[in-house]
Amino acid sequence: MNARAPKGTSDMLPDVGAAWEYLQRTAAALFARYGYAPVYTPLFEHTEVFTRGIGEATDIVSKEMYTFEDKGGRSITLRPEGTASVVRAALEHNLTANGQGTKLYYAGPMFRYERPQKGRMRQFWQIGAEALNMPDPSVDAEVIVMLWRFFETLGIPTSHMRLLLNTMGDEQCRPAYREKVAGFIREHSAELCEECNRREATNPLRAFDCKNPQCREVMAGAPLLRDELCEGCAAHYSAVKDSLDALGVPYVEDPRLVRGLDYYTRTVFEVQVDAGLGSQNAIGGGGRYDRLMEQYGGPPTPGLGFALGFERTLMAMQATGAFVPAATVTQVYVARVDESVSGAAFGVAAALRDSGVATEMDHQSRSLKSQFKQADRLGARMVVVVGPDELSSGQVTLRDMGSKEETRVALGAITAAVRDALSIAE
Ligand code: AMP
Repeated sequence: MNARAPKGTSDMLPDVGAAWEYLQRTAAALFARYGYAPVYTPLFEHTEVFTRGIGEATDIVSKEMYTFEDKGGRSITLRPEGTASVVRAALEHNLTANGQGTKLYYAGPMFRYERPQKGRMRQFWQIGAEALNMPDPSVDAEVIVMLWRFFETLGIPTSHMRLLLNTMGDEQCRPAYREKVAGFIREHSAELCEECNRREATNPLRAFDCKNPQCREVMAGAPLLRDELCEGCAAHYSAVKDSLDALGVPYVEDPRLVRGLDYYTRTVFEVQVDAGLGSQNAIGGGGRYDRLMEQYGGPPTPGLGFALGFERTLMAMQATGAFVPAATVTQVYVARVDESVSGAAFGVAAALRDSGVATEMDHQSRSLKSQFKQADRLGARMVVVVGPDELSSGQVTLRDMGSKEETRVALGAITAAVRDALSIAE
């Protein structure tokens, strides 16, 4: 058999697993301050949830979905992103009935059949948040601030991040604009790549996102929606900017920022970093999707949210020297001098753990010397040495690995002594 993980996937080994849990913890604590509650939707959905929601003409739906027929003959798709599922769940469970607002966040794997490269995987992990039934521009600003604060909380320096902001208009102003861009693509057809020419009919705004340098140059001259916004969209956009200005969140307007999903209306945003990532430099992004629930047959229900990518965020953290927790932390190592005191050593380790101290001991019949080496390797601050001589007088030795100081402690007092040495409050 092939013992390698499939192309574009990776095992989360302990260091990375610990980082993933840290990001989830950080998100849960921060998002709770903004009123978000956790939601877990299935990793797969009926294919229609994504084709209708994300849009047939998008790269995700047309090229990247893992779709298969299950044994019951249903078309099933592994989720390529989280928003469509959350909105489907909100509709199914009436979370937004009678105009009720709801704020939800999620964390988990997403699946896209993409060409793998640095920061681009076929299974990747996202944390995302969605605010439903909240039409006011204040919530756009709130969501953007929450995403920005999340990266700040992780310790990615703001000097390495850029927050891009744009508006995609709505059903009043976008259709005419779309036509203008399609017309522009037709006029410049010979200078644009095949893909952009194809987009002219299906999804002309995506031509702004083409990575081909010549297309980028040509598209720099295309008309901008900013100049064609309807009154409602212009007012909304300006209110979002005012709220961000009031908090001093340093956004950059990017009139060419179009995100890869059809469901966006009005506000879109993206956070990019300039460290640790190559061309895949977006660590998170999102936008408003006021019409999405209607695509599923629900009532008009404005919404907006973001998703951030775990792998890229971790790379940015590592590249900028942000704190990333270790996979395990050992505070104390219990070493035993010989086999005769194994039972007592086991008891000391158990008591320490029960009192909240991260404790490790030997389970591989190591010599005392190599137990000390192991304690060092694990970064233990203290070692409790259990030996037959001390034990016969009811004592053990407590060694501070920093100062190398050793003290004799009564067996019954070891937990309190360790906690005291580690300055753990009662
Ligand atoms: P999106 O759902 O495309 O708006 O992406 C939101 C975030 O998810 C991006 O900013 C990336 O950090 C991350 N992301 C998207 N696609 C991938 C992928 N194929 N591999 C790794 N991370 C991804």
